Amino acid sequence: MRELPTRLPAGRCLREDGRMSQEKKLPSVGFIGLGAMGVPMAKRVAEAGYPLTVLDADAGRTEQVAADISASAATSAAELGKNCQIVVTMLPTSDIVSEVLFGENGLAASLAPGSIVIDMTSGSPNKTQAIASTLARSSIALCDAPVSGGVPRAKTGELAIMLGGDADTIETIRPLVSSMGTSLTVVGGIGSAHAMKALNNLVSAGGFLIGMEALLIGSRFGLSPETMVEVLNASTGMNNSTQKKFKQFVLSRKFDAGFGLDLMVKDLGIALEVASQTDTTTPFSSLCFEIWSAAKKTLGPGQDHTAVARFQELIAGSEVNND
Ligand code: NDP
Repeated sequence: MRELPTRLPAGRCLREDGRMSQEKKLPSVGFIGLGAMGVPMAKRVAEAGYPLTVLDADAGRTEQVAADISASAATSAAELGKNCQIVVTMLPTSDIVSEVLFGENGLAASLAPGSIVIDMTSGSPNKTQAIASTLARSSIALCDAPVSGGVPRAKTGELAIMLGGDADTIETIRPLVSSMGTSLTVVGGIGSAHAMKALNNLVSAGGFLIGMEALLIGSRFGLSPETMVEVLNASTGMNNSTQKKFKQFVLSRKFDAGFGLDLMVKDLGIALEVASQTDTTTPFSSLCFEIWSAAKKTLGPGQDHTAVARFQELIAGSEVNND
């Protein structure tokens, strides 16, 4: 276990009689990035009793979320860092994590030596390793802890969490990350969890495309999409998309699973970065990336990742028939 710097928790740290309350035993936590995933995850941390300070790029959202989950609101990363022993980042990309850490009014300059940053963003392993080296010069530890399970499992605190970093740091943060997830897997040194997360999403993205192509072929043959999904889910063709996405977000035409198309394309780009770095020949992964990227370009910004089905319908020249 690492020794955390001594800092008064951001809030609720002293009782009226001036003695430290029970809550003092929990480290003070900062949470940066209050989006689709960040809000339910921060809520779990607050409910576990951690003194919590939150921050988002949108000041109004920061105030609102802080009020909703009984946390303190920060106005900058630097301000947040002054109050916290452990800081979680849940941001779109590693470049944004770097900006939050080392940019103007950045977090790194205000964290005390001995603090820990847990990057739960789905990030790039190379960038994460570079960030860790820079932070280490100020005696700040980094752990990569990306998640899987989407918004529903973020809400229930049942995320799958992959952990990369040194063993002491991971043991120190284990109770905190356990408030957000039920499956914690240590995958290796710093950056390894970000590599693993990108590979997980590569498998998930490939499963979506092939399942959707099967639905398109079957529809044109005259099969019912609902029946096809049921058969796939009872058979060896089952995957996460057949189980949790096709009926819910494609056949329903809702396309609102809560995970952005741009974020999926980013993750596939990271998986291909790792493939290139390891000199691995990956024709299927490259095609998968091309299709998702083309969907992003064709459909435009602000799309949910399940809208890739609409792009597949476009190139097939027909929709999955839901009659
Ligand atoms: P969102 O885009 O919903 O949320 C990101 C949040 O970060 C937004 O509120 C954004 O504010 C905020 N933000 C951006 N820049 C800054 C900044 N400089 N300082 C503070 N806040 C900032 O993304 P998600 O929550 O969906 O995803 C977050 C990460 O988790 C991504 O890496 C994603 O790949 C990963 N992930 C997502 C899953 C999902 O199902 N959604 C599942 C598993 C992993 P603003 O909108 O104002 O820019």
